Amino acid sequence: MKKISSIWLASSAAFIAVLAVHAQSGRTPDWNALNAETLRHFQALLRFDTQNPPGNEHLVTDYVKSVLEKEGIPVQIFANDPNRPNLVARLKGNGSKRPLLYMGHSDVVTVDAKKWKFPPFGATRDGGYIYGRGSDDDRPHVVAGLMTLLTLKRLNVPLDRDVILLVESGEEGTTGVGIGYMTTQHADAIAAEYCLAETGTVARVNGKVMYAGVQTVEKVPRRIELVATGPSGHASRPLQGNAVVHLAAAVAAVGTWRVPMRLNETTRAFFAKMAEISPEVEAARYRALLNPSSPAAAAADAWFAEHEPGYASMMRTSVSPTMIDAGYRINVIPSEAKATLDVRMLPDEDPARFLAQITRVINDPAVVARYITDPGLTRPTNKPSRLDSEVFRTIQTAVSRNYDTVTIPLLSTGATDMSQVRGNGTECYGIGPAIDLEDAAKGFGAHSDQERILESELYRFVRFSYETVADLVRHS
Ligand SMILES: [Zn+2]
Repeated sequence: MKKISSIWLASSAAFIAVLAVHAQSGRTPDWNALNAETLRHFQALLRFDTQNPPGNEHLVTDYVKSVLEKEGIPVQIFANDPNRPNLVARLKGNGSKRPLLYMGHSDVVTVDAKKWKFPPFGATRDGGYIYGRGSDDDRPHVVAGLMTLLTLKRLNVPLDRDVILLVESGEEGTTGVGIGYMTTQHADAIAAEYCLAETGTVARVNGKVMYAGVQTVEKVPRRIELVATGPSGHASRPLQGNAVVHLAAAVAAVGTWRVPMRLNETTRAFFAKMAEISPEVEAARYRALLNPSSPAAAAADAWFAEHEPGYASMMRTSVSPTMIDAGYRINVIPSEAKATLDVRMLPDEDPARFLAQITRVINDPAVVARYITDPGLTRPTNKPSRLDSEVFRTIQTAVSRNYDTVTIPLLSTGATDMSQVRGNGTECYGIGPAIDLEDAAKGFGAHSDQERILESELYRFVRFSYETVADLVRHS
C-alpha cells in the first residue's frame, strides 16, 4: 500500500487508466478509490450520536442498510427495541463451506462533550488523525465490514461460503438488545463457522509496528457480592460484631489476595512471542512466566502486577472490589454492609470452586460471598478459538503482507460480543487497526475523552479485513 500511494502521488493519466482497467477486469480492488469511499462512510458513521444509553443505533443501521441496498446486497433488520436494531447482510456463496461472519457494533459509550477538543460527533480530521467517539470502538469494524461486502460484490468474487455482516447494537453493557437477542432469537441468521470482530490490535510503539494481536479468548465477567451482618446499635458503644468492620476486613483480604497464576494455550503463546520480539530485560520477564511455578515467575508476576496490570490479569481469575454500601447515619452501627467484587474469570475457571476459595480467603462466618446476576454484564463461558485453524493462518498471512509483523494471540481481560457467538459454536477471532500504544496513556484511546484513529491505519485495516475475508471465502 505504501508503494502504491507514493506512485500514486506521482501519478500520470496512464497509470490511472491502468488501475481502472484492473478494477474493472476482475479481482483487484482499486484501493485509492476505496480509501476515499471509506473516509466518506467512516465520517458519516462517526457523526451519528449512538451513545449508549440510550443507543439510537437505528441511525447507523439505516445508513448501512441504504448503502448496501443501493448496490443490491440484501439486508435484514432484527429489532427487539425499534430504536436499537441489528443489521444482517449476506453475500451468498456456493455453500461448499460454512459461512463467515464479520461483526461491528453500532453503539458507543457516552461522552462528556466539554472535555473534547474536537466535537465528539464531528469526525474532525487533524494531523493525520480522525477524531470522534467510536473512531476506535467500534466504527472501524462497521466500515471495514461494509467496504468488504461492497468490494466482494462489485468484483463479483465467486464465494465458497456466505459472508455475513452483523452490525449489532448494545455492545456497551446492554447486550439484551444486541448480541444476546441475536444469539438467542435469531441464531440462524448469523450461524457461521468462523467470525471476525473487534478487540484485536496492531500495536505500534514510537510509530513502529511491533506485533499484531489477535484475540482468541476472553475472560468471563462475574459479579460477587459480599454481605456482612452483625448486631446494630448505638455508635457510642462499639460492637465487636460491627458489620462495617467485618466487611472492610473481607474487602481488604480479597483485594490483596494474589490469585494463583496459570497459563492457557493463548497466554502461553502470547508471552512466548513477546519474549521473542522484546529487548532482553523484558524478554527475560516474559520467559520466566512460561515456567509458572518458578521463583522467577513469581518475581515477574509481581512486576507485572505493579507495572502492567493487564498482563497480571491475563494469568489468573482476577478480583477487583468496586462498590461498597454500608450505613445510613453517623451514630448508628448498621446491621448489614455490602461490597461488590468485579470478578473476571479465566474461561476454564470453576465458579463454585472459586467462590469456595473466596470464602476461605475471607475466613469470617459473619461475611457471606455469593454470585449475583447482572443482565448487562452476563457473558457465557466461551471456549478459546484454535491457533491452528484456517482462519488464524489466513490472518497471519494477511498480517505479514499488510503490516510486515508477527501475529500474537491475545486473551482479553474485558468481555465482548464474541463470547455469545463463541457460545453458539462459532470460532471467533478479534482483529483491529493499528494504534499507538502510547495513545492510551495520553488519553486518546477507546472510551477516552479524545478518541482518535490514524487515517492511514483505518485504510490499512479496511484492506487487511478485505484480504483476510476474501482469502477465506473466495472459491478455490
Ligand atoms: Zn467495542
